[in-house]
Amino acid sequence: MKEILWKIINLIQTTNSFVLASHTDPDGDSIGSLMALGMFLKQLGKNVYIQMRENVPPKYAFLIKDLTYCSDNVNDPEVFVVLDTSSIDRIDKVANHLNTQEAFILNIDHHGDNLHFGDLNWVDPAYPAVGVMVFQILKEMGAEFTPLIATNLYTAILTDTGGFMFSNTTPEVLEQAAFLTKKGATPGWIASQVYLNHSKNYLINVGIALNNLQFYMDDQILFMVMDNRSVLRSSSSFSETEGIVDFTLKVKGVKVGVLFKEVQREHIRISMRSNGFVDVAHICAEFGGGGHHNAAGCTFYDTLENSQQTILQKIINVLKAQNEEWRTVNK
Ligand code: 5GP
Ligand code: MN
Repeated sequence: MKEILWKIINLIQTTNSFVLASHTDPDGDSIGSLMALGMFLKQLGKNVYIQMRENVPPKYAFLIKDLTYCSDNVNDPEVFVVLDTSSIDRIDKVANHLNTQEAFILNIDHHGDNLHFGDLNWVDPAYPAVGVMVFQILKEMGAEFTPLIATNLYTAILTDTGGFMFSNTTPEVLEQAAFLTKKGATPGWIASQVYLNHSKNYLINVGIALNNLQFYMDDQILFMVMDNRSVLRSSSSFSETEGIVDFTLKVKGVKVGVLFKEVQREHIRISMRSNGFVDVAHICAEFGGGGHHNAAGCTFYDTLENSQQTILQKIINVLKAQNEEWRTVNK
């Protein structure tokens, strides 16, 4: 077993009160990992508080039906567990009454740009989901995989592997998914909750984004733009846009896809995807953001037009440099 896993197990065995948190804009991996670890700690008789104040998207409501079960009164936790979060300032706002300043910080993450802010850090980008890392802890500690724990971990893995479509879908991942299915996770039902459960607003937002496509560099770059006026005019909102950026990669030849959301004037949220050749985390990091090699994001406090220009120029430079490198290597 990995030494870090020993340390984590030892920490769990020798402490009693835990606060668990993850990043803002919760997704399947962050919610599933928080809930599964929280419910397991409760199995061990620990005091657990899961900090998830920000709105959980309605489609993930089925994951948090036992959230109150992990809402113990933990004012001064011994351990503050942070999952799936690359830097401490991306954590969901700390509830005021909690004092995590004195706590021992356990940081478990699979983002390559993680800042190792913990007292103990298990950071490994080789893992497809933090759900897989939590799965390992539970497995090693002999957890009882209840149907709800299995459902949470399965959903974490499903969503961070893009529905078992990304290149991180390894034989081990499918074995873990099979194990969780045997323990009560139901793939068809979970997929329908996650992927066939959108609101009307979501489809309106898809329409806005698809209506505003911009191709560049022989269609290697595809921008989708959701400007504030279009969203207001169609009585929609920016709250349901998860997954829209993935439409960009459905087009043959596209290497980098970007969704620009003009949340407010001079407040532009940017989601970036790559088909694997370009490291978009690196690009977004240059603008104060981050993420994974294939999926990343950042925020611009500038006009929509300037943000697009800046990002376009950067991606063109990266693609040109890569093409140059490719030509040199293959000469
Ligand atoms: P999305 O485009 O789905 O919002 O985000 C894709 C990935 O990039 C996620 O793993 C997310 O955590 C990360 N990400 C998105 N925005 C930011 C950001 O502003 N800063 C950092 N560090 N990571 C981000
Ligand atoms: Mn994740």
